[in-house]
Amino acid sequence: MTIVGAGLFLLAFHGAENLRIRLCRPAGFVRLSVNTMTTVSTAATASRKPKDFVIATMGSHSALQILKGARDEGMRNLVICKRGCEQPYRSFPVADDMILVDDWKEWDGGLEDELIRRNAIVIPHGSFVSYLGPERVKNMRAMYYGTKEILEWESNRDMEREWLLKSGLLLPRVFDKPEDIDRPVIIKFHGAGGGFGYFVVKSAEQFYEVKNRKYPDENDFVIQEYIVGAPLYIHYFHSPITGELEIMSMDKRYESNADSIGRIRAEDQLAANIHTSYTIVGNIPIVIRESLLPQLFTMGEKVVEVSKTLCGNGLVGPFCLEAIITRKLEIYVFEISARIVAGTNPFINGSPYTDLKYDVPMSTGRRLARDIKDAIVAGRLSEILG
Ligand code: AMP
Repeated sequence: MTIVGAGLFLLAFHGAENLRIRLCRPAGFVRLSVNTMTTVSTAATASRKPKDFVIATMGSHSALQILKGARDEGMRNLVICKRGCEQPYRSFPVADDMILVDDWKEWDGGLEDELIRRNAIVIPHGSFVSYLGPERVKNMRAMYYGTKEILEWESNRDMEREWLLKSGLLLPRVFDKPEDIDRPVIIKFHGAGGGFGYFVVKSAEQFYEVKNRKYPDENDFVIQEYIVGAPLYIHYFHSPITGELEIMSMDKRYESNADSIGRIRAEDQLAANIHTSYTIVGNIPIVIRESLLPQLFTMGEKVVEVSKTLCGNGLVGPFCLEAIITRKLEIYVFEISARIVAGTNPFINGSPYTDLKYDVPMSTGRRLARDIKDAIVAGRLSEILG
């Protein structure tokens, strides 16, 4: 593991038990000893000075706006990158410090000790959870923004459905087995990254034809009613510090090949036997008709309220409801993401909604940093850490 400062110094780890860190400064080397079982001390979290803390995240997903957000709020930041993927975090000059790892397996006790030593608050995002896995996230000792237990409610399909139903939301129907399919359905494999491998069919025969041909060994999937309508991803922020639920922004996804099929005429689509897929490649900003906003606020508030009955502090910080709005303006929610989503990335300079509320460009990344700063100053950090 290599730690690269902002051009000033370089550190290298040796061994695992009792790590020796060499600070390579122009003046020479300084040797430090760090015990691997360091834990966050109450003295550290008790500081009321934002400058005593560092906002840290993994270099992927929405890291650029998280890092910039920290900077904009006057806090220091740190990015942990996989070697070979660090170019964006060098080219866009938003990172104060960088730690390079060869593999995410190196996100271990040694790295955590370094995070704890620096008083780092780790911000989880989609790639963070998917690269480290829920177990490692759960066992993290470094300060973690948000509620860890909520990740289970988000990733377990039955628990997620229970949460959304309890919140009074309208959900697409789920079919227990392919033989029950009586309308267009979307097949989603568990853990499918960014919509990869999703397909749409309207009968059991079609289902088996596609499944056996393309995914013969994949047996963990959900069969969900396909809702025809306009997709809308609503980015919320709930701060326990202000007690308020905010709508930050909205997006729709730019997907391959779903967003290119319309460029081919119907006869050619049939001739080429094209199946629709939903692999995400980017995000497109949206504003919604204003008369729907009250309903979106109510939906977000209900989800937060129910989350508090599920675990710990419930939903803390950013989350997203993934919805489809039909031509009758029914809002179907098919998923919740209980952390920052990449759909907030077009709004690094703020969104039309945050522009109405804040007098500075407020991205979700910056809002996160402000929440942390407010909590530190108010001595309420424990309310936003999981
Ligand atoms: P996701 O990865 O879950 O965000 O979904 C990927 C794509 O599938 C998005 O374009 C969604 O709009 C679409 N999608 C997911 N579930 C449904 C559904 N039940 N009905 C219609 N489209 C869906």
